[in-house]
Amino acid sequence: MRILSPAKINLFLKITGKRPDGYHDLVSLMCCVGLYDTVSLTFDVTEASVSCSHPDVPEDETNLAFTAASLFFNTLNINKSVKISIEKQIPVAAGLGGGSSNAAAVFLGLNRHYGYPFSLDKLISMGLSIGADVPFFIFRKPAIVSGIGDKLKAYQKLESFKILLVFPGFSISTAKVYKNLNLGLTNCKKKLRSFLLNEQSFDPRCHLCNDLETTAASMYPGIFTVKEALLRHGALGALMSGSGSTVFGLFSDSDKALKAKNVLAENDKWQLYLVDMITKETRDNSKQGYL
Ligand code: ATP
Repeated sequence: MRILSPAKINLFLKITGKRPDGYHDLVSLMCCVGLYDTVSLTFDVTEASVSCSHPDVPEDETNLAFTAASLFFNTLNINKSVKISIEKQIPVAAGLGGGSSNAAAVFLGLNRHYGYPFSLDKLISMGLSIGADVPFFIFRKPAIVSGIGDKLKAYQKLESFKILLVFPGFSISTAKVYKNLNLGLTNCKKKLRSFLLNEQSFDPRCHLCNDLETTAASMYPGIFTVKEALLRHGALGALMSGSGSTVFGLFSDSDKALKAKNVLAENDKWQLYLVDMITKETRDNSKQGYL
C-alpha cells in the first residue's frame, strides 16, 4: 500500500499558556499543502522495519512512523509486523510536520488494511501520544487546532491561496525554540482577538501571525531574510510555519507566485516549492491518501 503524506502550514499559531507539565497550550489554524512524502507499507513481514530516503531521519524505533505502527499493533493486541519505506520530499525539522504526517499515514493505512478496527476519534487519541501534530494529520481538513493539539475543529471558510514554501537550507529543533520562547515577545493576541471571538474569515493581511517567529528568527536571522524577500516579491503575506525553519508566502494567483519563485531561486541555499493549499475547493481525490 502506498500512501501520500502531506506537509502542513500554520496560518496562525498563538501560544495561550504554559501548562504545569511543561507543554504549551496553543490555538492554530492549520492546513495541508500539496507537498508529499510517500509512505509504502508491506504487510505480513516477519520483522518490523523502517527506511527513509533522507539521511537525517532515523531508521529505527524512534522514527515516528515506526512508533505509530507499534502503537497500532499493541493497541489491537495482534502479533503482526509491517515494513515501512518513506520517500521524503518534505524538508526535515522544518516546521512542515513531516514526521507527524508520516505517523498519521501509517495509522490510516494500517486501519484500512485491517478492516477499520479503530474509529477516527480513537486514532486521533492514539496519534496525540506520538506528537501534537499527529491528530491534525489524521483529521486532514483545514482546522483550528487547540489545547496541546488534541482539540480539532474543521474550518470551512478558508480561501485557497497559492503558497510558495521556502526552506532556508537549515533545520530548527522545536524543543530549542520552545526553550527560548519569551511570551512577552508574542504578537498574536492582538491580531486574532476579533477573529477568535467571531470566527471571521481568514484574511492574510490581518490574521497571519506566529508567536514562535520572533524567538526563532532571533536565533536564526535567515528567517527574516526569507520573509522580507517574499513580501518584496509580491506575497500578500508571509510567515514562518510551526517552529520553523520554513517560511511561506501567500499569493493571489499562480503567475505572481511563479515570478517570485523565479527571483528567489537565485539564492541557491533556498529550496522552493510552489504548492496549493488543500481546502475543499482544491481537494483532488487522486491525491488524497492512497496511490
Ligand atoms: P516538529 O515540530 O514535530 O518537531 P517538524 O515539522 O519541524 O516537526 P519533522 O520533519 O517532523 O519536523 O522532524 C522532526 C524530528 O523528528 C527530526 O529531528 C527527525 O529526525 C525526527 N523524525 C522521526 N521520524 C521522522 C519521520 N518519519 N520523518 C521526519 N522526521 C522524523
